[in-house]
Amino acid sequence: MSPLFAFSYHNPTQIHFGPDSFAALATLVPADARVLLLYGGGSIKANGVHAQVTQALAAHHVVEFGGVEPNPTLETLTRAVAVVREQRLDFILGVGGGSVSDGAKFVAAAALYDGEGWDIVSGRHAVTQALPVGVVLTLPATGSESNAAAVVTRAATREKRVFYAQAARPRFAILNPRVMASLPDRQLANGLVDAFVHVCEQYLTYPVGALVQDGYAEAVLRALKTLADTFERRREPDWGQNLMWAANQALCGIIGVGVPQDWASHRLAVQLTALYDIDHGRTLSIIQPFVLREGIEARRAKLEQMGRQVFGLAQPSAEGVIAAIEAMYRGLGMPLHVREAGVSEADAAGRVLALARAQGHVPFKGAMPLDEGQVERVIRGACG
Ligand code: NAP
Ligand code: FE
Repeated sequence: MSPLFAFSYHNPTQIHFGPDSFAALATLVPADARVLLLYGGGSIKANGVHAQVTQALAAHHVVEFGGVEPNPTLETLTRAVAVVREQRLDFILGVGGGSVSDGAKFVAAAALYDGEGWDIVSGRHAVTQALPVGVVLTLPATGSESNAAAVVTRAATREKRVFYAQAARPRFAILNPRVMASLPDRQLANGLVDAFVHVCEQYLTYPVGALVQDGYAEAVLRALKTLADTFERRREPDWGQNLMWAANQALCGIIGVGVPQDWASHRLAVQLTALYDIDHGRTLSIIQPFVLREGIEARRAKLEQMGRQVFGLAQPSAEGVIAAIEAMYRGLGMPLHVREAGVSEADAAGRVLALARAQGHVPFKGAMPLDEGQVERVIRGACG
């Protein structure tokens, strides 16, 4: 058994969880802050979240910027950066799902950087400073509200990439499960699967003697599996509360300390959104089972452990556990192939493969590497 890796862990995001947590905004945002309220396509106006947030900030100076798309684009966020500069704003409050939260981090970092915004996303510029960020979460899925990652798409080149910036990690996150009442079923299922795959990326690796991390990961996976099994209860308060907290814990950083991390499913799935606009959660249900099958030998011990600890199987086989994961996704109405996500293009696999190659993912290098042939089979399986 490999030993734990050395690590340094600090997650300073203050979480306010609960049905009355909006009021805390009045004091969480400094009284003299000049606030950019960043939001998406308007769901917060329809469901009353915007009214509650602006009421809590009635005594603050607030400028609004709406229109951040799902899978936020560099182009839109760059316009938000211009507003921050023109109006000398100094606090970024994202109100929305992962897209808005990620967008808030980019705007906060780009506002203090004189070069091209894409330098931040491509990693050419390492972010060391950012304006303070706060998040009001409206969609539990990504964990973005308390992590240092952000995913931004350059629409002009259809490139979707992740960057990490500790300086842009939100100071606080408001997790009010009541906001989930207006979420369509599709987004609830997407969020559940995204969170499930986040834990898998930090757990389904080669075995490390990390008893605490395995236990945390299995607790969150069991919670998400229970939520999937009880999806018909999704409009009951405890169901939503559990999803909101589980999705946060899945990617706040704690599960990944001291252990190897994979991320092959995320890195390869991203191309499906960049090319075909498939929802993030749905790209994962399509790609992950193929990644697990191709990389089954390296993951066999942990898949079997997951079978026992998460799926309650007495004598699990790694193959059987992958089938159980697929059955769970099916039960949630998620696609397992790009065809089921509405892509009919004959050479989808060729295009996805070319983009993955351009991003440097063929072969996939990392703690759980996939050689060129394996990546090709993953993509041809999912898209062919
Ligand atoms: P999202 O793109 O933020 O939102 C999806 C849709 O849900 C939007 O149309 C949004 O509408 C709507 N919505 C949000 N809250 C709602 C509510 N309470 N009621 C009704 N509709 C609501 O979805 P997401 O899955 O949270 O974020 C996906 C993005 O995060 C992707 O770009 C993905 O790559 C990235 N990601 C980031 C991380 C990370 O660690 N930072 C991890 C995984 C994925 P409006 O626009 O109108 O609000
Ligand atoms: Fe994700």
